[in-house]
Amino acid sequence: MAQSPPPRVLIFPLPLQGPVNSMLKLSELLCLGGLHVTFLVTDHIDARLRRFSNVQSRFHSYPGFRLQSISDGLPENHPRGDKFLEVFESMKVHTKPLFKELLQSSGGGGGGGRISCVIADGGLGFPLDVAEEVGIPLFIVRTISAACLWVFFCLPQLIQSGELPFTGNDDLDVMIKSVPGMERYLRRRDLPYFCRSGNVADPSIELYKCESTNNPRATGLILNTFEELESPILSQMRGACPNIYTIGPLHAHLKAKLAATGASLPDFSNSLWEEDRFCLVWLDDQPPKSVLYVSFGSLATVTRAQLMEFWHGLVNSGQRFLWVIRQDSVAGESQVPMELLQGSKERGFVVNWAPQEEVLAHPAVGGFLTHSGWNSTLESVYEGVPMICWPYFLDQQVNSRLVEEEWKLGIDMKDTCDRSVIEKTVRNLMEVRKDEFQRSAAQMASSAKTSLGDGGSSVSHLERLIQDIKAKSVV
Ligand code: UDP
Repeated sequence: MAQSPPPRVLIFPLPLQGPVNSMLKLSELLCLGGLHVTFLVTDHIDARLRRFSNVQSRFHSYPGFRLQSISDGLPENHPRGDKFLEVFESMKVHTKPLFKELLQSSGGGGGGGRISCVIADGGLGFPLDVAEEVGIPLFIVRTISAACLWVFFCLPQLIQSGELPFTGNDDLDVMIKSVPGMERYLRRRDLPYFCRSGNVADPSIELYKCESTNNPRATGLILNTFEELESPILSQMRGACPNIYTIGPLHAHLKAKLAATGASLPDFSNSLWEEDRFCLVWLDDQPPKSVLYVSFGSLATVTRAQLMEFWHGLVNSGQRFLWVIRQDSVAGESQVPMELLQGSKERGFVVNWAPQEEVLAHPAVGGFLTHSGWNSTLESVYEGVPMICWPYFLDQQVNSRLVEEEWKLGIDMKDTCDRSVIEKTVRNLMEVRKDEFQRSAAQMASSAKTSLGDGGSSVSHLERLIQDIKAKSVV
């Protein structure tokens, strides 16, 4: 009798660089675990992946892998980028029925057979309703920190206790009491930025306050974190949502698995922009731990005035720096100002987009000035690189507080953008308090490596996830 093929899992990330990047890594881990995977992205992301990344060639060795695309309902010339709430709104209306059709059709796996299980980003919302209607098990995946997701879980209590609403003009140092496990350090200013709207009917509050009811409806919740990093929060969260799989840091988990199979490590690129690899050559010429890497991720934008404050602060700090300035990241400008490029030459190097994981792993890098996106934070934690945090939105305000106050891995510079503060903070991280931060960063990096070693927490959680997918998949 012919053997039945392995279950086919459909993975549906949010249409953004960070989630796409980490979900591709999860896809490869599941392929290595013997599952078939259909990776579903919007047409816009599909086009960028095919143009800039090496996804197609990399997944060639997994015959069960399919890349499939679906419309987000927006015209081709829509800017998307940081207008992602418009993208999500459009997807709820236009993509939802297409997604339902795809799950119902017998060839839903893009020519690879029927979908028997779904892993979808909880931020999309509608896949859970559709999977319930169609009768296919669905695991929610989140690519934000457990800490921020836990704040989302607690939004109803924050409103009930009167701690929300407040505005950006109120005293932002007031301590928050309605997020169990975070009472010691969470202030108003550390809540997600949208909490400052002064309005409990704010669309983002509306969107995220359902987390505590939605997540427990799913078969399980998959998080890109590791137990040793967020255990106090995770134990609170398990009270509300018991079946949690912590399998991060995903980028390093995949590398460890590939190394264990003896496969040569491929040249990773899940980028939606073209990487400038010449910055690695520049780094080769710099002394150990001497360079501050500066990047605000794929979505954050700055004003020209803020950009110039950073530039003055960095140059005046006297430190070497490698700075990613995306072409679309300066509001109202399509080019990086010329005087900045000229003036950076002495100790700095500016690129459009860097191979970040390789940059953070480079021995010349001694610090990371980051917007505290969750992927960037985990990549920095894993490489033992201390951070200066300048959060932009969403989970970043929460993450930066944990970096400084809970994990002691750096300095939180939120709510300020002044050249003298930047200069002083950079000197503190790279010179004055260098040893202290390097020590704690090395300890946390070692815990991350333990979680990915033999019998490590993230390894065990991934094994359990693969077994559960096989057991619960519909045939
Ligand atoms: N990244 C990169 N090159 C860059 C800047 C960022 O490869 O020049 C990658 C980075 O490694 C991370 C992702 O883009 O995996 C950014 O995700 P994150 O969650 O940190 O922030 P977001 O872009 O979602 O705000």
